[in-house]
Amino acid sequence: MICYHESLTQPEIIAVNDYWLLSSETYSGFQYKVQEITPFHRGQKIRGISTLAGCCSFVSSDPFFSCPSCKRKKPVRGRQEYSRRIKTQKSEPCSECVEEQRQQAVNTAQEMLDAFKAEHLKPKEYVEMLSMEESLALLSVASGRSDDNFFLGESPENLSITGCEALNQTFLVSFLTNGVITLVSELPPKVEQENRIVFGQYDRVTYAHQSQNVRTYKHPDSVTPGFYLNAPIIDGEVYTSGIDSLIYQNLLASSVSPEEATKLHHIITEIQLDKMYRMTREISKEYGLIIDNSNKLRALLLHLAKHYAPQQVYFTFNVKARDTIVYMHKERPPSYIENQLFAKFVGDYIQLIENKGWELKKTWSLPPSIQTSSFEALFSQIYLDGHFDWNRLSAKQVVALWLENVQLSANAQELLT
Ligand SMILES: [Zn+2]
Repeated sequence: MICYHESLTQPEIIAVNDYWLLSSETYSGFQYKVQEITPFHRGQKIRGISTLAGCCSFVSSDPFFSCPSCKRKKPVRGRQEYSRRIKTQKSEPCSECVEEQRQQAVNTAQEMLDAFKAEHLKPKEYVEMLSMEESLALLSVASGRSDDNFFLGESPENLSITGCEALNQTFLVSFLTNGVITLVSELPPKVEQENRIVFGQYDRVTYAHQSQNVRTYKHPDSVTPGFYLNAPIIDGEVYTSGIDSLIYQNLLASSVSPEEATKLHHIITEIQLDKMYRMTREISKEYGLIIDNSNKLRALLLHLAKHYAPQQVYFTFNVKARDTIVYMHKERPPSYIENQLFAKFVGDYIQLIENKGWELKKTWSLPPSIQTSSFEALFSQIYLDGHFDWNRLSAKQVVALWLENVQLSANAQELLT
């Protein structure tokens, strides 16, 4: 059966009939060769036969001219397609059925992915159990994701909390133990396959602009191995959105106990101490100095973290690194002394200014390897009106500013006053 386009003239219809005229006698299965048809109708003013065939369609009673699923007829538009059908003796499903099957596969895969997530990520009553510092840490790690996305990061290094690894680990262990966060360590091959069905080849490699590191692009809704936030339950209700603001509200509503004040003091000091260590490593690299990681150095850096701003200390570090180099060239001390010199020069200088009652006034901007962590940024925003940069403050000053802006519990007030 032939279906003609309405624009065809009578002579053109005859030409198309010739085009589709079958014959069991010829090798091709058609009565005429394509190039024979136009000359037959010369003088009739018809368009080229391939143009005409292209706007008509042909269907035969053979079963491979029907869609195997919906059984609707599937016409062909030319001899090539016709021959292919006859040769393969096979009919492919029609585009509607293909789309329907694809959609069905996507829906099923999505259901399986949802089931996988539901099996691993369990809502939990945790918001009210979070301590103040945990609330801050959780907000730091959870900020930056979109509201209904529970994925936090692939590895602990991707979870930006405080910038200090030891602290991050403490928080992470506590979150994992208390069901705040879940680690999906491995995906069954089936889940990988379902991901591909729903999101395509989602694991394309991309380059991150800032760090130039190779990173893998993942579709934000695909299931990937890594850390996930669990949905909180409050008064029996599971919250799947607005989690950040729930944690934030809880943080503001609770007053600070003496234990929490102490803990937070410790965390602030650790973060600043971590910067001192990073600065020391930078100095060592820049000036080619070997600096022994001794107890003496730790005691010195801890003292500096508590009482001085990182930017002031970095100025002193640079000056003292130069002094150390000059001294080494002049005196040529043995290496066991050489490795202690930087710490000694810094320590002696700090001792001197403290004895004299002087201050460190000059500052040196910090190297890019020392970045403000999410925890610091969030803390400043909530408690320090966003005005204070921790790199310009000592741990003591940060704590003092915080205490001015925080609601203390009655016994904490008593203890402090
Ligand atoms: Zn069909």
